[in-house]
Amino acid sequence: NDVAAREYVQGIYETVVKRNPNETEFHQAVKEIIESLIPVLTKQPKYMKHGILERIVEPERLITFRVPWVNDQGITQVNRGFRVQFNGAIGPYKGGLRFHPSVNASIIKFLGFEQTLKNSLTGQPIGGGKGGSDFDPKGKSDNEIMRFTQSFMTELYKYIGPDTDVPAGDIGVGAREIGYMFGQYKRISGAHESGVLTGKGIIYGGSLGRTEATGYGCVYFVNEMLNSKGLSFEGSTVVVSGSGNVATYSIEKAIQLGAKVVACSDSNGYIHDKNGICLETVRRLKEVERTRISEYVKEHPSATYHEGCNGIWSIPCDIALPSATQNEIDEESARLLVSNGVKAIGEGANMPSTLEAIDVFLQAGVLFGPAKAANAGGVAVSALEMSQNSMRYSWSFHEVDDKLHAIMKNIYRSAVQAAEEYGHPGNLVVGANIAGFTKVADAMIAQGVV
Ligand code: GLU
Repeated sequence: NDVAAREYVQGIYETVVKRNPNETEFHQAVKEIIESLIPVLTKQPKYMKHGILERIVEPERLITFRVPWVNDQGITQVNRGFRVQFNGAIGPYKGGLRFHPSVNASIIKFLGFEQTLKNSLTGQPIGGGKGGSDFDPKGKSDNEIMRFTQSFMTELYKYIGPDTDVPAGDIGVGAREIGYMFGQYKRISGAHESGVLTGKGIIYGGSLGRTEATGYGCVYFVNEMLNSKGLSFEGSTVVVSGSGNVATYSIEKAIQLGAKVVACSDSNGYIHDKNGICLETVRRLKEVERTRISEYVKEHPSATYHEGCNGIWSIPCDIALPSATQNEIDEESARLLVSNGVKAIGEGANMPSTLEAIDVFLQAGVLFGPAKAANAGGVAVSALEMSQNSMRYSWSFHEVDDKLHAIMKNIYRSAVQAAEEYGHPGNLVVGANIAGFTKVADAMIAQGVV
């Protein structure tokens, strides 16, 4: 009988909504996670007794700060910086920094909560954190990016460290930004503390395979789901949204495994080519020229460009890898994918499917790899980067890639097992949440009321 657990979860949800007014993304993440924990709360009432949910939905701290900088016209600009240190039960806070105009407390908190369970799932000793700014990198010069990131780090510096909180990249933060931030941190601290940031350049403490890790890991995870049903990437048609770090390496690995990737996108629109898109062109346009994906069709007349992002989900495919941003698949898009015969979804982005979309996929019996499992490869290799920094040693690409592959298989196995143990066989949303949660919760109980 799960009445007590249901009431407990409902009470927690109401408190979260009241305490965090208008933070709809945070409410959404909390709802998805805590409702799926009802079976574990019912079976293990100790979690209710120790007030684990009351504590786990409240970040340990949320830091907000002013980030002043001067643009190329000599005009002073101000952005808001954030860092949430969500849960440090199993290790130093760990999670990326997002630079995007949509960033606010709600977005940072939803990401931090997701990160807490994701990091636990990786099996690595890392707590959950997240941060960023509403700064828009689009159209900024290299000098503006440097001045902004230096100002951002001048304040963030006070709160991070190799044993306390270790940021990395996320949307809008890649190798260039990490480089400038590392330089500023090093200058302030006067020491080369390489473990304070991950996603660093290879020549100053970065890990081989970190850039590839999220995309490769997502494809490894989806491959496990497919194999369980006797399916594979070989000969399948794949749609990937986004064209950033996660998307491009998912595309690369999917192609390596014999798939045809027919579409990808940026925040303005998407390209579609039935014969398969040219990854090299996408990379050059987005990474080197930093321009729009619409330019693609000038070089590849067989492809078409479409304004807007929703339309990409109307393309028939076997596998969809949403790798752009939160809530990019709504109920209607999910229905379209299902009616066009999609077999598997791997969430490369964080929370790319709305709650309604997830329901559509689960009810249709589509293989569904939730973000905190499917995209955990990135942060998992970040933890491997921290290990290498501590050892002052580096593993080869193959060593890292093998470890990543093993970690993704393990995450899949843990999620499948937890789903089965708690009465929802095949439901990896429930499985991933429970497997991630129990480890954090048990650590919290062991450490007392803190
Ligand atoms: N931003 C990535 C994520 O969502 C990676 C975080 C990290 O490497 O710390 O998991």
